Amino acid sequence: MDAAPASQRLYERVALIGLGLIAGSMAHAMRRAGMTSTITGHARSAETRATAREIGLVDRVYDTAAEAVAGADLVVLAVPVGAMAGVMDEIAPHLAPGTTLTDVGSVKQAVIAAVAPHVPEGVHFVPAHPLAGTEHSGPRSGFATLFDNRWCIIVPDGADPEAVDRLARYWRALGADVDMMDAVHHDLVLAVTSHTPHLIAYTMVGVAEHLRRVSDTEIIKYSASGFRDFTRIAASDPTMWRDVFLTNREATLDVLGRFTEELFALQRAIRMGDGQMLFDYFTRTRAIRKGIIEAGQDTAAPDFGRGGGAGA
Ligand code: NAP
Repeated sequence: MDAAPASQRLYERVALIGLGLIAGSMAHAMRRAGMTSTITGHARSAETRATAREIGLVDRVYDTAAEAVAGADLVVLAVPVGAMAGVMDEIAPHLAPGTTLTDVGSVKQAVIAAVAPHVPEGVHFVPAHPLAGTEHSGPRSGFATLFDNRWCIIVPDGADPEAVDRLARYWRALGADVDMMDAVHHDLVLAVTSHTPHLIAYTMVGVAEHLRRVSDTEIIKYSASGFRDFTRIAASDPTMWRDVFLTNREATLDVLGRFTEELFALQRAIRMGDGQMLFDYFTRTRAIRKGIIEAGQDTAAPDFGRGGGAGA
């Protein structure tokens, strides 16, 4: 009788393309879950590959993505969104029929447009996005608990239901809760909950930099009063976030337009001394915050004190 828990037998060989925060955390979480899969990996630079070998991030690190995916029954694209098409170009001839191909990209429509045309016959492409992250990147930044109690959104996009179900079980074994939605809806939801807030954080830090009346020392000294969280978020990886905004352009611009309207309304209330408007507005936003805490999605939870929540 096979006594191995289901989570240990989901995939025999998992290839992680890209060895940064998300792929590294997946490797740690797989080991924590006791998965028996062999984990192979590849990253673009020799430096990252050397670090991954040194710390034993995965079982085998390969110099090419093509070698890393050979024989894998799960291949994970964990590179910036703008790099997915190039990686697919290289690995497509090496994907065996029956393989599940997935990604962790923060944007779904653009990834599907970049990846789907390259997917060979018989390979199951199941896009996904774990809603978890920090402002750190690179092969040393991953940790096993990153996905605990966070959502992983799977975009089935017409894929084989058995492949979708297996990937959902895999993400649950890594600690995540799984939800399904279509790519358009995903991109709008993320524009509201993650992409636009990041842009606002980048902007606020940029504003402070330009405000010559507030000295640098004061900005650092008094940063606990809200600004510190902005600086943490604004420290997130520039390549990744450039790609997010270039590829989720429409949804982000839509949300930014609404944001600007709200901002003008608040600006007017302040100018007119309309305290009631401000009070009512802040009461409504406070209720949203309460809902987030009740849903267990408060990123400042004590067991998640690694700067979590700057994820895309
Ligand atoms: P990361 O820590 O910067 O790691 C990116 C990895 O991709 C690095 O190992 C990098 O290699 C590799 N890479 C870049 N271009 C490549 C190419 N052309 N070929 C092969 N490898 C390449 O980034 P991450 O935070 O893990 O993000 C990876 C993906 O997860 C992105 O699509 C992002 O949108 C998504 N995501 C991120 C977060 C978050 O908060 N960070 C959350 C959810 C999803 P080198 O080190 O050699 O350059």
